[in-house]
Amino acid sequence: MYAKRSRNIFDPKSKEPFQISRSKIELYTNCPRCFYMDVRLGLSRPSTPPYTLNSAVDNLLKNEFDLLRKKGEKHELVEKYAIDAIPFSHPDLPKWRGEVTAYVGALVLDEKSNLMVNGLVDDVWQDSQGNLVMVDYKSTSTSKEISLNDEWKQSYKRQIEVYQWIFHKLGFPVSKTGYFIFANARKNLPKFDGKLEFEMSILPYEGNPDWVELTLLEIRELLNSDAIPAQAPECEYCAYKQKSAQIVKSIKEKL
Ligand code: SF4
Repeated sequence: MYAKRSRNIFDPKSKEPFQISRSKIELYTNCPRCFYMDVRLGLSRPSTPPYTLNSAVDNLLKNEFDLLRKKGEKHELVEKYAIDAIPFSHPDLPKWRGEVTAYVGALVLDEKSNLMVNGLVDDVWQDSQGNLVMVDYKSTSTSKEISLNDEWKQSYKRQIEVYQWIFHKLGFPVSKTGYFIFANARKNLPKFDGKLEFEMSILPYEGNPDWVELTLLEIRELLNSDAIPAQAPECEYCAYKQKSAQIVKSIKEKL
């Protein structure tokens, strides 16, 4: 049943750093109102069922890359794309991935906004210059060519950029180029046989995380404010809420 949250709500009177996740930064970018309702008022969006198939693919890819991490070897797909990187070994990697209880990913304090920013990475590679390379796994099923051009995939780009910003802030040299590994499930096979077949590809992305610090300052300003931001005009959910409230009201008035 839906209930207002009582924990992890921003308190404007507190001087303690407030923790904010990569996905909450994304929520703010999409709609400051939804972000405010969630983080300041404890009214988060209703939950959706977990993407278990995507998680299964993520785990399988992590296992595959972990085997090579131990040996310090390059993955054959990375070889095929002539990418200069091997899986990065670091004792904190399980924490950065959220595999250790009580750790919420890579975590760093932004002193200017007094926000602790955390992000759960899928993988980190290292190039031959010693720079860390941010990597995210994506599962899909499409007959279209895989690209990063769709409007909704701009969030993928911001995801990589937040990771780049976090790891730079943690003191690591970070490559501007991040990578998405796409696992594309083929859907035009004549028979299922209880098996999914994936076409694997890698797309590079040249990130620019300069926007992150400014956005964190905007977020802090919004959280300190008592004014609830306006809704995003193009959002169908708020339009649905308003329309349904209007219709229910008019029906009640007729009774
Ligand atoms: S406009 Fe959409 S995203 Fe914004 S508060 Fe309403 S439901 Fe949330």
